[in-house]
Amino acid sequence: MGSGVLSALLADAGLRDDPSLGLVMGEVPLRDIVDRTGTPTYVYHAAIIRERFTALDAAFGDLPHRICYAVKANGNLAVLRLLSKMGAGADIVSGGELLRALAAGFSPDRIVFSGVGKTDEELIAALTVGVGHVNVESLAELRRLAMLAELQGARVTVGIRVNPDVTADTHPYISTGKGGLKFGVPTDQLDEALAILDEASHLTLGSLAMHIGSQITDPTPWVKGLERLCELLAVARAAGHAPTTLDIGGGLGIRYRDETPLTPAAWITPLIPMLRESGCTVQVEPGRYLVGSAGVLLTRVVHRKHSGGREIAIVDAGMNDLLRPSLYQAWHEIVPVQRTPGEEQATDIVGPVCETGDFLALERPLAPVAAGGAVAVLGAGAYAFAMSSNYNTRARPAEVLVDGDRWAVVRPRERLTDLFRDEIADPFAQTEAP
Ligand SMILES: *Cc1c(COP(=O)(O)O)cnc(C)c1O
Repeated sequence: MGSGVLSALLADAGLRDDPSLGLVMGEVPLRDIVDRTGTPTYVYHAAIIRERFTALDAAFGDLPHRICYAVKANGNLAVLRLLSKMGAGADIVSGGELLRALAAGFSPDRIVFSGVGKTDEELIAALTVGVGHVNVESLAELRRLAMLAELQGARVTVGIRVNPDVTADTHPYISTGKGGLKFGVPTDQLDEALAILDEASHLTLGSLAMHIGSQITDPTPWVKGLERLCELLAVARAAGHAPTTLDIGGGLGIRYRDETPLTPAAWITPLIPMLRESGCTVQVEPGRYLVGSAGVLLTRVVHRKHSGGREIAIVDAGMNDLLRPSLYQAWHEIVPVQRTPGEEQATDIVGPVCETGDFLALERPLAPVAAGGAVAVLGAGAYAFAMSSNYNTRARPAEVLVDGDRWAVVRPRERLTDLFRDEIADPFAQTEAP
């Protein structure tokens, strides 16, 4: 890793490496958080989240737009509240996220409900609170929604998420816009979808939507996808529908290593002529871009060992805390919280979980960090805590929000005894014969 890239990664997180204080986020030395909160701990930087939202907002100029934050990237209420206060809406994918978004203060009309497998209970909850858009992903779901809306006597604005059949150059697990995947209504079924809407007394077509994947660093797939969306808009209008929103999804990539991410302007500017021509409000659903770079995972070295010619640092954060390296072979930069003199050495930074796939980084040049020393895993604001689990009966990390010179725990570390509190050790004890 060149030092230029490292500087860029630190700047993305609003971190500086102070010769005496070590890594400082805003005005808070991360070592203070390590000392007071313990590890592993996620830390999110409010100033960066605000900065990103503002930059994206500005990229639209005077074009009517809505930014609906994808809650699944990081659903902590403090993060949601911050974005809601900035004027963001919320893109949700479950009934749980609906409750979370409402609890954080998003007004229902600014909520978009996405997802391929919404259950009746989830659709009814959306109808009951009156979410802004329900984005349907199949004809079956559209029929179901039509029936439920009529039963409930609730009107609902529908978005049709189409599958624009474009490929985005990203990890196959986070590519979602190609034909034959589970996402979106295939474009050749749009006519049928419009016919269902014609018959549905309580449904109004409000938007055409797409979401082509995640961690995308090239504007071309959005341009192609939007061209497709505009063709479909003409089809919908010709059939007598009047959608007022084009939803171009999320997916804007960030820097994890040496990527050159798109700026918001480089993402949106090529789309502006088509969007203006459409006469629609544009809606975007970024998750990772808003929060990914704003978070770090603090973890301490538990033991060091040398085995099979490899230098290994075992840290107290595992794949249950941060799954991305194991799931996507994702690269996260790892920096000592406090630098100590000495040569960098290729090190496997692994977790304590009983899986060979439990690593944060392999053969990574790392400055010396002794047992007890802390490192910061960068780019841990999105799909990080949100994907954590209790595997190995491990309590999920604490979460902290830093704002200027202040910091606060916004989710305490889980208590171990809570992890099995609701389990029933002897379910048949009452009924057993004496
Ligand atoms: C996950 C998701 C997003 C957010 O994707 P990012 O890559 O985090 O921007 C947006 N829209 C939908 C429908 C999603 O499923």
